[in-house]
Amino acid sequence: MLMNGEAPKTADVVIVGTGHGGAQAAIALRQCGFEGSILMIGRDDAPPYERPPLSKEYLAGDKPFERLLIRPEQFWQDKGIDLLLGTSVTRIDPAAKEIALSKGGPVRYGALVWAAGGDARRLSCPGAHLSGIHAVRHKGDVDAMMADLEGGARRVVVIGGGYIGLEAAAVLTKLDCQVTLVEAQDRVLSRVAGEELSRFFEDEHRSHGVDIRLGEMVESLSGDGDRVTGVKLASGEELPCDIVVVGIGIVPAVGPLIAAGAAAADGVDVDENCHTSLDDVYAIGDCAAHANPWAEGAVIRLESVQNANDMATTAARAICGNPEPYNAIPWFWSNQYDLKLQTAGLSMGHDVAVLRGDPAERSFSVIYLKDGRVIAVDAVNRVKDYVQGRKLVEARAVVDPEALSNIDVPLKELL
Ligand code: ADP
Repeated sequence: MLMNGEAPKTADVVIVGTGHGGAQAAIALRQCGFEGSILMIGRDDAPPYERPPLSKEYLAGDKPFERLLIRPEQFWQDKGIDLLLGTSVTRIDPAAKEIALSKGGPVRYGALVWAAGGDARRLSCPGAHLSGIHAVRHKGDVDAMMADLEGGARRVVVIGGGYIGLEAAAVLTKLDCQVTLVEAQDRVLSRVAGEELSRFFEDEHRSHGVDIRLGEMVESLSGDGDRVTGVKLASGEELPCDIVVVGIGIVPAVGPLIAAGAAAADGVDVDENCHTSLDDVYAIGDCAAHANPWAEGAVIRLESVQNANDMATTAARAICGNPEPYNAIPWFWSNQYDLKLQTAGLSMGHDVAVLRGDPAERSFSVIYLKDGRVIAVDAVNRVKDYVQGRKLVEARAVVDPEALSNIDVPLKELL
């Protein structure tokens, strides 16, 4: 195994990206009985690690980095999987089936699995270059934030009210920081959840002392020297701060694929086997735009561990000559304070949202229907509803909304 050394000149499968998708692609290839050479190339210096804890237990200091590793380092060696770390792919030549690297010579591939994910979207306003502004995407981002906190930073402005911003706000509050969260839309989680859930999470964060500002745009960041000291809003208000945490989504990392001519609109287009329009080039995970069966075939990207892992298996099976079209039901989770949110299915496009239970009791679900069928469930501290509701989604069950709202009837009885 090479961790930072010279790359081989050729590999039967080259995997680009060492996140959940890349790691699982390598694991799945071996599970499928693939005996050829596998080379994983990652920009990150660390071997594959889990990303969700970065905005949760790792930031909170509750989980050391070793426990984030997707597999112990020895695993990769045992499975004959080469890891080339601290290296980016800069160019793809699809005719020669060859890639160029940021360092070292070119590598020829038999099949290429693009699992490069995305880069944290950056602010583009004046002052965005200042130090003390942190993304939450890589271990290094969180390490830098933790160093600032250890240096005494206490006043935090979080920009973005998606899962990343909200999870960071929850942990930072617990670490005794004074947190203000700025969200451009008129509710948090607007991209991924229904309004009931947004309002619930806003109330929770406020009750923990987070100052939530909705419908606010950031105009500029001010600094003292090169260090951020404040966030100026379009309304004219200035929020003084020691650090800024930015969670405003990702930009799919697909530059070399696009330059090589891969079909793409948002991210890169893939078919049901995660194959791109380029010969023997697959794309999986956050950057892969696909027709999702759980969104009535709409072409979407999903930014989740589930999607990365399941697409990795899809691509591995296709490479091994045993394809099985991607059909995994989307699921996701988020931990904030003592709340565990679990979601299954995709709620976008729903026409009815049924509340089950009382948000005031901090244990409730929202079940989403479209044309009378259950399409998604969001469960807050209600594991049974999640497990049983997911089966309703899988069955695309037609259920009376009235019955769904009755917490005395378990969801499995409605199947
Ligand atoms: P993430 O995975 O980083 O949480 P999401 O796309 O789910 O990403 O959420 C990002 C949130 O940030 C969205 O609610 C979006 O409205 C908000 N947002 C994006 N740009 C800005 C901005 N410049 N200022 C404030 N909020 C923003």
